Amino acid sequence: MTDTVDCVVIGAGVVGLAVARACAQQGWETVLVEAENAIGTGTSSRNSEVIHAGIYYPQGSLKARLCVQGKHKLYAYCEEKGVEFSRCGKFIVATHEAQLDALRAIRAAAAANGVDDLRWLDRGEARAREPALECVAALESPSTGIVDSHGLMLALQGDFEAAGGMLAFCSPVTGGLVRPAQPTLLKVGGDEPMELLATRVVNSAGLYAQQVAACIEGVPAQSIPPGRYAKGSYYSLAGAAPFSRLIYPVPEEGGLGVHLTIDLGGQARFGPDVEWIDTIDYTVDPGRAAKFYEAIRTYWPALPDDALQPGYAGIRPKLAEGKHGGDFVIQDAREHGVSGLVNLYGIESPGLTASLAIADEVIERLNTH
Ligand SMILES: Cc1cc2nc3c(=O)[nH]c(=O)nc-3n(C[C@H](O)[C@H](O)[C@H](O)COP(=O)(O)OP(=O)(O)OC[C@H]3O[C@@H](n4cnc5c(N)ncnc54)[C@H](O)[C@@H]3O)c2cc1C
Repeated sequence: MTDTVDCVVIGAGVVGLAVARACAQQGWETVLVEAENAIGTGTSSRNSEVIHAGIYYPQGSLKARLCVQGKHKLYAYCEEKGVEFSRCGKFIVATHEAQLDALRAIRAAAAANGVDDLRWLDRGEARAREPALECVAALESPSTGIVDSHGLMLALQGDFEAAGGMLAFCSPVTGGLVRPAQPTLLKVGGDEPMELLATRVVNSAGLYAQQVAACIEGVPAQSIPPGRYAKGSYYSLAGAAPFSRLIYPVPEEGGLGVHLTIDLGGQARFGPDVEWIDTIDYTVDPGRAAKFYEAIRTYWPALPDDALQPGYAGIRPKLAEGKHGGDFVIQDAREHGVSGLVNLYGIESPGLTASLAIADEVIERLNTH
């Protein structure tokens, strides 16, 4: 027998969990299907855990809007649910005069996105606050913070289940069929294969979102944007953190530059860098260390030799260059013609920060298209 439900969400990363929670809270009977045997084993547990302010993204982009909305929602949610976080702030640093224009452009982009709390610090002001820092100027972002991403996902799962949602682990979606004016059929593999009929389907499979969309017969192939993987490796720092807030260089192509983040336990790590890859592989290549030392010493010259250890890696689900301009892509029936289906593509950074706002956006799309 095939069960019919109001909604199936595919993928239990932080975005899938936030979306599933919001669906269940609409009163929809919702099943969240996850290929692995736990929540958040993909990109959601392989990131910097930074609550981004919404500084860098082009005005009017989904990233800009959903990051700023998501940041406010996330701080409020963490406070309400007792999820650990810190509004530690960050400095974006120019390490030579030639970067000052880039720093000014960042301040202007932030203001256009409604992030108007950035403060310009000259070298003296910046070093008074962070004595180990070398720079010619810095921008301070007081609304940037860090969050316990796993604690956040557990809280979202708790809300989802409290609203009657069902979470199915070891349940990869392996196929499906879109049928005009009828619920979508989804084939779920694993040890206990099943079929589900769903009035609404949200594809939140992260790095596998294109693959999932392509396995559902009736989703037009031309609507699926080609993806690319940009791996980011981290190195951890032995010993005490040299800074009390996050330190970011001026961004580089494909990423935000080798920055320093601090976890809630006070441990410092550097990364992620950018490495374009063809297959998913989370090994950290010790050979990348030399580039890390070089990048970090531009703003922390006192970094001792041998202080860095290979940490972990995450992979950004990028979209190939083209009409999407590096933005999140949230597709509903207007793009692919399938009523009740929302596909989420390219949900790289700031997806963790934006998760609650992405969920609201998905609900809005499901209610109108
Ligand atoms: C290096 C790096 C650093 C980052 N740093 C930050 C940061 O500091 N702040 C920030 O806001 N964002 C950051 N991000 C982005 C953020 O981590 C992601 O946007 C977010 O975790 C994406 O969540 P997700 O739920 O979409 O994807 P995922 O966490 O990847 O979840 C997708 C889930 O789908 C499941 N799945 C896949 N295929 C199937 C299938 N066929 N059937 C069922 N389930 C399936 C997977 O197992 C997985 O659990 C970073 C990303 C990277 C790579």
